[in-house]
Amino acid sequence: MGIIPIYATLVGMRLFHPFIPARLIPLVALLVAAVATIMLAGCGSSSPRDTTARPSIVVTTPMLGAVVRKAVGDTADVRVLMLNGSDPHEWRPSAQDVAALENADLIVENGLGLEEGLADALARAREGGTPMFTATDHVAVRTVRAGQGADPSDPDQSPGARDPHIWTDPTKMRDVVLALPAAVKRSTGADISATARTAAQSLAAVDREVSTLMARVPSSARGIVTGHDTLGYFADRYGYRLVGAIIPSLSTQGQISAAHLAALDRAMRAAGVRVVFDDVGTPAQVSQAVANDTGATVVKLNTVAVGADGSYESFIRELGRRVSSALAKANG
Ligand SMILES: [Zn+2]
Repeated sequence: MGIIPIYATLVGMRLFHPFIPARLIPLVALLVAAVATIMLAGCGSSSPRDTTARPSIVVTTPMLGAVVRKAVGDTADVRVLMLNGSDPHEWRPSAQDVAALENADLIVENGLGLEEGLADALARAREGGTPMFTATDHVAVRTVRAGQGADPSDPDQSPGARDPHIWTDPTKMRDVVLALPAAVKRSTGADISATARTAAQSLAAVDREVSTLMARVPSSARGIVTGHDTLGYFADRYGYRLVGAIIPSLSTQGQISAAHLAALDRAMRAAGVRVVFDDVGTPAQVSQAVANDTGATVVKLNTVAVGADGSYESFIRELGRRVSSALAKANG
């Protein structure tokens, strides 16, 4: 906006506002033009993006973080608390993490007790009024079924216990992404519906890919033994069976007993299981001992870290590849 049109406007205004003295009009026009110039510069697209003005979303786990990041696109800053590859059951926050939680516009947590080491910090942020989105509130939750390897004497593992490991099924993550826009809108005012839709389509596509991979393993070779009970959702989704776990628990913090290991040994022999999938938080020497006793092979499995490209899709694709190729090879 130049000075001449503003001057013309003010001259025109003088017709209706004769109380503006004519000699002040050039000065008023200059002032208005200066203010307009500053305002236009402030809105200019050529100036660098002010990232601090974007809403801040803090996510607890790397897998959930990757999905949320894709769903919000450029709309918000997403910070993931847990170090990629760390055990989500025992991970503890630093002072900066606690501050980030308290200053967030929205916290996205997994829920169902997964974040055991973060529980106090999350409770404090919740009490302080930080809006919270709990991913497991938005999916049909899997519960432990009788005879699924968990320790029935522990209330957290007995039949009916609710499984927090939803990220091992991409369709559950899709349910999370579809529920996210309403929460983001409510807490930050931002509309992420378009980017969330694209993220949901990508999750459906990778689910079809993993389905194809997993379908190649013959049904007789589909018994799974893991470090703790991490793959319940994965097994349900792709038609596999949980035979047992080294730590008979939904958490790495569960206890291993000699009686349990003896029962696991029998279950593995009965089901013809030839692979023990070892994961973060499992004592490696125990996995190896179980494998030695049953003639199985230990295969390292990553269930808690996103890959080099930072995407959830590459994580779940790699999980599918690793499980299917290890079972196909051991039973080939
Ligand atoms: Zn776990």
